[in-house]
Amino acid sequence: METTCLEPVVAKSLTSGLSEPLAVMAARAACALELSLKRFVLAGEQNLGHLELQAARDVQELLRQALERGAQAKADGTPPLCPVCQQKLTRLSAGHPRSFESRYGTITVKRTRGYCKRCRKWRVPADTALGLEESAGYSPAVQDMAALLASKMPVGEASAVLEHLTGVKLPPATLDREARRQGERAREVRRKLDEQACEQGQAPDQPELVLEPYQMIIQMDAWNIRERDQWGKTKALRREGKEPERWHWVYTGTCFRLDHRGKTAGGRPLISERGFVATREGMEGLREQLHAEALRRGLGQAAGALVIADGAVWIWRLADDRFKDARQRLDFYHAVQHLAAVGRAMFGEDKDKLKGWLRPLVRQLKNQSSLKVIQQLEEILEGLPAGVAAQAVQKEVNYFHEHRDRLDYRNGRQRGEPIGSGAIESTCRQAQCRFKRPGQFWSQAGDESLLCLETFWRNDRWHLLFPHTSFNPARN
Ligand SMILES: [Zn+2]
Repeated sequence: METTCLEPVVAKSLTSGLSEPLAVMAARAACALELSLKRFVLAGEQNLGHLELQAARDVQELLRQALERGAQAKADGTPPLCPVCQQKLTRLSAGHPRSFESRYGTITVKRTRGYCKRCRKWRVPADTALGLEESAGYSPAVQDMAALLASKMPVGEASAVLEHLTGVKLPPATLDREARRQGERAREVRRKLDEQACEQGQAPDQPELVLEPYQMIIQMDAWNIRERDQWGKTKALRREGKEPERWHWVYTGTCFRLDHRGKTAGGRPLISERGFVATREGMEGLREQLHAEALRRGLGQAAGALVIADGAVWIWRLADDRFKDARQRLDFYHAVQHLAAVGRAMFGEDKDKLKGWLRPLVRQLKNQSSLKVIQQLEEILEGLPAGVAAQAVQKEVNYFHEHRDRLDYRNGRQRGEPIGSGAIESTCRQAQCRFKRPGQFWSQAGDESLLCLETFWRNDRWHLLFPHTSFNPARN
């Protein structure tokens, strides 16, 4: 290796206040790399991983400087207009420094501040141009990493993983704060997107693209989450005879086009595109968010819609309210469980008898008329003497009567539609894995913002929060 390396005089030039051209810094970084290569070759105990770390470190200051200079030049070139209303700012003053944690270290930018008479607010247009305005001092890449990691794992772990993978140090409390700030921003973006979806409403976006009529499948479910909103008040509440409530419902929904459902090469069911909603804002929150999501996914252009869910009353009420033209279907598995309850009332613990009775009935429910199944249950009820068993069967007969218009499994199967709500149940299981880890507690305000981040990620809309993530530098 024949190289003439520059002397490491970085410190001197920096303390003198003069900044070196990037080309000189790059040459210096290249020399550091050359040296690292030589050391690496000689170090018997080091593998390529050691060099990967060392090389990143050798160029880090170059990258940090490049970032800082780029940020400063962009700030200097930003016109003094209000980023909200585009009004010209007055009472301008330049040189306001602010430091940000970036992917490659701390950078400081001097910005111009001005007053917007229309908004009656002080504005720093450069912060908006750089994507720094809605952060406590983190660059967009760091905001993105904090938000993503905190929505995927507990913050203590997220902080350690972040530092391990990128070298960026964010203590758990700081990471938590930044993630929640980004989550709050996500909620605002979601609110606007939902408004837009409802305004466009039933009007087809690109009607010519709908070649074949399709059905929209909608599924809903709820699970509970543990929160610490009343922590520290337990004793006081108990004195008043109240039990502190720590479990709260998370309402979840999913929607997809039937023609987007297929199978993997291995034969496993797969839905190529589907919308996902999870909220702590009650049934009303789910109703509005799921409706907007379904519209975005093509509800307006669908030939029809189908709601599939378990027997919970709130779901059918919500469906009648917001998806009133949709057909309704009771989850097949839940229906079978209610048939089994009739069997248990008749045969008690005799499992063989129960199975022998249940099997043909399940087959009938699935492939033939559900009305015939209900008829058989009624006949059983008539033959039973008054008592506990008759009461139990009566309850189930009532259940099937209540859902009689939701039991058309035969036609559903013939049309290739799902008869179970498996899609939403697996979704809930996954979400619970994240939000119900042992020892994890959430606050009421915080978990909605984290759930919101999670839905942006799952719905493939992360780039609407962090536009740089859809940018491909190779094609720039
Ligand atoms: Zn303004």
